[in-house]
Amino acid sequence: MKRTMTTADNMTKTIAIIGGGPAGLAAAEILSKTQHAVTVYDAMPTIGRKFLLAGKSGLNLTHAEPYDTFASRFGAANDRLRPALDAFSPKDVRRWAEGLGVETFVGSSGRVFPKAMKASPLLRAWRQRLETRGVTIQTRWRWVGFSDSANDHDLVFETPEGIRTIASHATVLALGGASWPRLGSDARWVPMLEAQGIAVAPFRPANCGFDVAWSEEFAARFAGAPVKSVVATSQDGRTQDGRTQDGRTQDGRTQGEFVITRHGIEGSLVYAHSAALRDRLEAEGQADFVLDLLPGRSLEALTSALEMAPRKASFSNRLRKAARIDGAKLALLREVIRNADRLPANDLASVLKMLPIPLVRPRPIEEAISSAGGISSGAIDPSGMLRHMPGVFVAGEMVDWEAPTGGYLLTACFATGRHAASGLLRWMSGAD
Ligand SMILES: Cc1cc2nc3c(=O)[nH]c(=O)nc-3n(C[C@H](O)[C@H](O)[C@H](O)COP(=O)(O)OP(=O)(O)OC[C@H]3O[C@@H](n4cnc5c(N)ncnc54)[C@H](O)[C@@H]3O)c2cc1C
Repeated sequence: MKRTMTTADNMTKTIAIIGGGPAGLAAAEILSKTQHAVTVYDAMPTIGRKFLLAGKSGLNLTHAEPYDTFASRFGAANDRLRPALDAFSPKDVRRWAEGLGVETFVGSSGRVFPKAMKASPLLRAWRQRLETRGVTIQTRWRWVGFSDSANDHDLVFETPEGIRTIASHATVLALGGASWPRLGSDARWVPMLEAQGIAVAPFRPANCGFDVAWSEEFAARFAGAPVKSVVATSQDGRTQDGRTQDGRTQDGRTQGEFVITRHGIEGSLVYAHSAALRDRLEAEGQADFVLDLLPGRSLEALTSALEMAPRKASFSNRLRKAARIDGAKLALLREVIRNADRLPANDLASVLKMLPIPLVRPRPIEEAISSAGGISSGAIDPSGMLRHMPGVFVAGEMVDWEAPTGGYLLTACFATGRHAASGLLRWMSGAD
């Protein structure tokens, strides 16, 4: 086994950042302003693969809602993430992107995107900035653990040239969560940290679709069909906590759309409710995605329209004429409420206003946009350092927090990467 020592004088220390995603690169950016020798290691042939994939759907960088609302989107982690977000807020994200030559705009839902609606120009400019400032980017280096040597911070990598051990004065781990493992974030680091006594909460899908036990006929005919302009509520009829953000109606419920898939349901409206639905499935073994198919009509108005529809008309004609329900919405109603055509007008109106789609399970984590779980908050001090491992800092989605879609994930990854790097500098200077 070959051990690589980087030359470093008293002033210049060697810093390893493992993981070249948004969190790792954000840490590198802070550290690149110092005299230290900074290297970003990544297991993949190229950095930022998940960031580039996020760009395929427009790259929602952050959100323009009032900052206090923004900072309340992280559930149990709100307080913990707040200092990092305060230091790199959504406004800072926009200024930073613009500093890299990427102009942003606020979409109708308040979500912020680059004007080019993609990630590659931003990643290219970011990488160039880091390399110009002397950061080394070392790809195809997979971190496989800490060495058994006396030096706590020796890091062992599998590289194309064999096993290498690197002596690092301080390290930022930014290895990502567990979704889309083929892009690099495969969570193979979990046993390595657990072996060091670090508590890691099990990874679970977040911002995910769900399986529904569709009939064969329904799945074959409607897989791929969008269901638009509906409102999702929780089982008891209230919108699920502050996790929703798009298309809020005046009473706080969430209007949006989703897609019927071969296996179940996917799409932004489902993701907005997915954490609560996943938690309820885990806790109670069952959960319904409850839909108002006609958010613009009151229950009373709908009931009287259905009562007035000609008795002789077929069920589908009655629904089309009285409620403008047809296509995928009509099929969904029939799939979920098998005797819908025999219901009296008031009951039919009720199910149109609160259609409960029974969920079986979340889709696998490999397909989820993000993951919940990761390094437990108790294992990390306020500066982002592992309490059991002085000099080792953690950031990004590998830490146990979750957030809905809406730019919250990327903003928190940037912010925690920068926060960990600042904590590392204070620690190295002996200030912490
Ligand atoms: C389809 C999709 C769309 C998304 N769209 C958005 C969006 O629009 N807005 C938003 O806010 N968020 C979005 N996200 C989420 C966002 O991309 C992630 O939250 C973010 O990339 C996480 O950043 P990270 O740096 O923590 O981890 P990652 O981006 O996962 O980076 C981790 C890096 O660590 C490397 N690594 C892992 N293990 C090792 C190892 N042992 N040794 C060396 N390197 C290792 C990986 O190769 C990877 O490069 C999207 C995600 C997906 C899947």
